Amino acid sequence: MFRYIKAFLSSKPRLLCIVSSLLFLGAVGAAEFSDAREAQNRARQDAAPKNATKDQNPKNGEVLLLPVQGNISMLAGAGGNITVQAGDNGILLVDTGLATMSVKVLEAIRALSKEPLSYIINTDDRIDHTGGNENIGKTGRPLAFAGAGTRGLIAPDLDEQSQGRFRAPNAFIIAFSTLLDRMSAPAGQVAPVPEGAWPNDTYSEPQKNIYFNGEGIEILHQTANTDGNSMVFFRRSDVISTGDILDPTEYPIIDLKSGGSIQGVIQGLNRLKLMVIPAEHIEGGTVLIPGHGRLCDAADLAEYQQMVTIIRDRIQNMIKSGMTLEQVKAAKPTRDYDPIYGSNTGTWTTDMFVEAVYKSLSSNQDSRASK
Ligand SMILES: [Zn+2]
Repeated sequence: MFRYIKAFLSSKPRLLCIVSSLLFLGAVGAAEFSDAREAQNRARQDAAPKNATKDQNPKNGEVLLLPVQGNISMLAGAGGNITVQAGDNGILLVDTGLATMSVKVLEAIRALSKEPLSYIINTDDRIDHTGGNENIGKTGRPLAFAGAGTRGLIAPDLDEQSQGRFRAPNAFIIAFSTLLDRMSAPAGQVAPVPEGAWPNDTYSEPQKNIYFNGEGIEILHQTANTDGNSMVFFRRSDVISTGDILDPTEYPIIDLKSGGSIQGVIQGLNRLKLMVIPAEHIEGGTVLIPGHGRLCDAADLAEYQQMVTIIRDRIQNMIKSGMTLEQVKAAKPTRDYDPIYGSNTGTWTTDMFVEAVYKSLSSNQDSRASK
């Protein structure tokens, strides 16, 4: 099965000449090469094998379960990619897709295991990643409640009534603490999402570890698209769920209102680069499940990280030379990459990306962070 996956990974057009040109251009990083790269990227996009793309991005309304590596599978087509870890202890999901897709998601997961769903981990609080929390979470049961002496495990400070609520059959929903802040609401206000969708097991340290289905799982906090991104590293399977920090289908989303920043995204990508160990020409090596789109490997990550870094540098230089946001947009600092990552329509356009990078770099916080 891994060969099948590897075939996907290697079926992308990675012509030697394009790679070497990109490396050269990346090293130079100069805007004057953007015409050549734009043409190359356009040709590359046109030449992309349509089957590979389609197979990992099923048609509207369909979900596709794809074995990845170890005991990890990827469920595509439900919104953001969903990672499924299944084994004797039960099922763990990273993200839950859109609410409207929950029935199909549950059907697909049942094919992997009849054991209960114990954990959901949210990589951020965007609706295409947390939309199914309530529908899917309520079908689950926390592992701890199967055993004795676990009373009060989740929230020992709560009173009896609240404990009862938490003891109700339900999966743990793990997320960085700021996600709960945004998904719930201060007293007296209406929460943006129903309580059943809220994370019930938040963390606020840099890292939270759990052990499930015979494997250590590291949940790593990273400020990136928002202030509460989590990356999930399955140590034995050697798979990382990156959330939207890595999204080969578009420019990275930077949700400024939720504390996201371009520097955070780049820090996240740099961190992933240190974690990923490639195994060229033999089976193995770290596999990345991105927030959207097809499975990625170390080379895909390097390419995306380089693209984001080059665009950040260009916009940084434009800001330093005193250009306004409108002038930066008119200068098209992303032009050579637009054939692959750009969009004039949808929820995250190229214009929105450029504006978010500009504002992110112009804010005091980020200029401090970049020093
Ligand atoms: Zn997403």
